[in-house]
Amino acid sequence: MTNPLPPSEAVGEPFPTQARVVVIGGGIVGASVLYHLTERGWKDVVLLERKTLTSGTTWHAAGLVGQLRATYNMSLLASYSKDLFRELERKTGNGTGFEQHGSLLIASTPGRWEEIRRNASMGQLLGVDLELVDRDRVGEMWPLLDTSDILGAAFIPGDGMANPTDVTQALAKAATMAGASVFEQTKVTGVLRRDGRVSGVSTERGDIACEYVVNCTGMWARELAGRSDVIVPLHAAEHFYLVTEPIDALTPDLPVLRMPDDATYARNEAGKLMVGFFEPGAKPWATHGIPEDAEFLTLPADWDHLEPWILRATKKLPVFGQVGIQLFFNGPESFTPDDRYILGEAPTLGGYFVAAGFNSVGFASGGGAGRAVADWVVDGHAPMDLWEVDIRRFMPFQRNRRYLYERTTETLGLLYDMHWPFRQVTTSRGVRKSPLHDRLAARGACFGEVSGWERANWYAPAGVEPRYEYSYGRQNWFPYSAEEHRAVREAVGLFDQTSFGKILVQGRDAERELNRVCAGDVAVEPGRLVYTPWLNERGGIESDVTVNRLADDRFLVVTTGACTMRDLDWLRRTIDPEARVAVTDMTSAETVISIMGPRSRELLASLTDADLSNEAFPFATVREIDLGFAFARAARVTYVGELGWELYLPMEFATHVYDTIVEVGDAFGLRHAGYHALDTLRIEKAYRHWGHDISEEDSPLQGGLGFTVAWDKAGGFLGREALLRQRDEGIRRRLAVVTLDDPEPLMYHNEPIRRDGRIVGRITSAAYGHTIGRSIGLGYVTREDGPVTADWLAAGRIEIEVALERLPATASLQAPYDPKNLRIRA
Ligand SMILES: Cc1cc2nc3c(=O)[nH]c(=O)nc-3n(C[C@H](O)[C@H](O)[C@H](O)COP(=O)(O)OP(=O)(O)OC[C@H]3O[C@@H](n4cnc5c(N)ncnc54)[C@H](O)[C@@H]3O)c2cc1C
Repeated sequence: MTNPLPPSEAVGEPFPTQARVVVIGGGIVGASVLYHLTERGWKDVVLLERKTLTSGTTWHAAGLVGQLRATYNMSLLASYSKDLFRELERKTGNGTGFEQHGSLLIASTPGRWEEIRRNASMGQLLGVDLELVDRDRVGEMWPLLDTSDILGAAFIPGDGMANPTDVTQALAKAATMAGASVFEQTKVTGVLRRDGRVSGVSTERGDIACEYVVNCTGMWARELAGRSDVIVPLHAAEHFYLVTEPIDALTPDLPVLRMPDDATYARNEAGKLMVGFFEPGAKPWATHGIPEDAEFLTLPADWDHLEPWILRATKKLPVFGQVGIQLFFNGPESFTPDDRYILGEAPTLGGYFVAAGFNSVGFASGGGAGRAVADWVVDGHAPMDLWEVDIRRFMPFQRNRRYLYERTTETLGLLYDMHWPFRQVTTSRGVRKSPLHDRLAARGACFGEVSGWERANWYAPAGVEPRYEYSYGRQNWFPYSAEEHRAVREAVGLFDQTSFGKILVQGRDAERELNRVCAGDVAVEPGRLVYTPWLNERGGIESDVTVNRLADDRFLVVTTGACTMRDLDWLRRTIDPEARVAVTDMTSAETVISIMGPRSRELLASLTDADLSNEAFPFATVREIDLGFAFARAARVTYVGELGWELYLPMEFATHVYDTIVEVGDAFGLRHAGYHALDTLRIEKAYRHWGHDISEEDSPLQGGLGFTVAWDKAGGFLGREALLRQRDEGIRRRLAVVTLDDPEPLMYHNEPIRRDGRIVGRITSAAYGHTIGRSIGLGYVTREDGPVTADWLAAGRIEIEVALERLPATASLQAPYDPKNLRIRA
């Protein structure tokens, strides 16, 4: 039972002119942010809602609360909701409608069954109670279900459902009880800025000065953010559920039913059957802007669009076809290009936070996401590794309407579709291409997409179509990629790495400023390069980059394509604004061709007059060399663990240099190699992947990167004090390298690591090591009674849990391949 919130005005509060934080939007997410700000003791906080609370998307959410989401961190945020609902009821006396009858996640295909079992293993890491049940048991639990094609299911007793309107009201009420204010019928028309930071908001009722805004305006967020040049790529889509006439056999204790192979979920809605859909080929809505007067919107029914999915649902739930439909509900929800929501502070405007784009899991995730953003505002940093939902992952082009429109047709269905390893999106492709793209395509490249870039992931030999055939086992490209891998180990491979982010840092103070940002020492001679982490004040790794010193006052920072916006933002935040330093994104200026492998020297030497010998061109140096009729900046560095060079070329020279290399390539055993081979090669060397193996939560000491830290360099560096403290206290959480003893099974990530039966960590990234002939994973291991050492690892029985099966493994702190780095210095 809900006692509605008295809006702040109704209790005589005047409209404010000042607040510390203005939260814009009164859906589940805005209310959650507001509540969690007050939980952190911030009282001077105001929520503004253009109409009434919940009048956007929240009111019509189906109310499903599931704890297991696509990834570990998103599951962490979602699993907080159920604790929150109970706490809210206690605090406010308001009901939240939370009913915990569990959920059944049904598998009707072998792939799904494997996915469920793999996720069940991940659930163990989160402490999610989960039981695998067979077809008969499913039939007992849901007697109305036709179980004939069901292979099994996961029963998650802690899942449930709640009333989105009641929860939102309770959050707002708890927040106002703690001192926050809520004003309805107050539209924010713009955000004010001063000196690159937020300074207030304009509303139809006057301005409010503030230090922070949090844009929680759901499907309106892209447009509102756009007015402040903040990029929030999302697009609304029509989203459907149907509610039947009453059905006697529906009992109140039925678990929520998720049937992803039929793109359908079902639950008891007060004695009626609610059936909802995540159909492929969704319908984007309101491309040119959400109508001004939209409020408690329902869109027209579309039986034709939904017919195939209704028929499938009827096959599974025959009763669905036997009773009348009382409600065909069609409501809009916002979707993002990668099906993950958007949190964090905008890279372009200090104090401008976003929590939007919830891809139809905003109700279940809103509690945890709201708490995360509130912590982020108060502490100035994310409370945990939230890179997968971080606003800085997006590129400016991703706000393009046509791009979003097309992608949205795909993303809605992806929530329930198979989450295959290496799965690639199929819509809005071909946006960013290297100059070599067509040549690589002619060689059989199968492309994957990262941040809009088309990148060759693997090469199909003649007669084979470059197309993925997905599975959890060895996919169709496995043998071809293995050959690419072997060519790089034994002869030479060519990678197109044009998607690298390239950031030029130049000016009189460049060395001083960059050396403060880098934990390594970049005050080296021009012509040297340094692999270094960037640390935050807590000693966590904000990025790991290669810094090329090109001249006394000029450095090129090389990072991954996906991290470019984030790293630019980090430099903007950390470089002294008074310093004489200019930071420029040069990504689009240069192509990168990497020539890697023991025969790379011979191959390049045949095309250049430059001396490539170890003496003249040692590891970790960068020089300009002639190549064909052109010049390239060659950097002797590697991510594959072999002798090799990255060649940086102004874009217009790319095809000429590529053709020149390929022309002589056969004589040296040159093979084109893709990003999948890059991954299998790097994992054998235990090279960390930022975003998986190292993040802002992990320090270089924990990540096994202590060797990159220049502890005593002049001027110190950001994060040094935290790191020193950690060094003194001892490292109880440490990245380890784990290899499965059995050469057959494959790991991907999030598999639990057990030592003597107990879970001590999880795999953060994994790939197959074709040279050592086993699956290799990296993952953090925690020891309670002392530091994690090689001896301690060796003394225990290590097992990796893959799809609920415990597989014997070996753990070490060393790379399985060439741990002494002899090959890269050859
Ligand atoms: C049919 C359907 C079923 C769903 N079922 C589920 C489910 O079972 N489980 C689940 O987890 N999720 C579900 N969802 C998704 C869930 O409803 C959303 O993810 C969630 O409600 C998003 O909340 P929000 O606060 O981000 O956005 P909203 O609820 O849309 O809130 C945004 C608010 O901002 C306000 N606003 C906009 N512009 C301004 C402005 N300029 N000034 C002031 N205020 C402004 C709007 O009026 C609105 O009230 C479902 C969605 C649909 C459509």
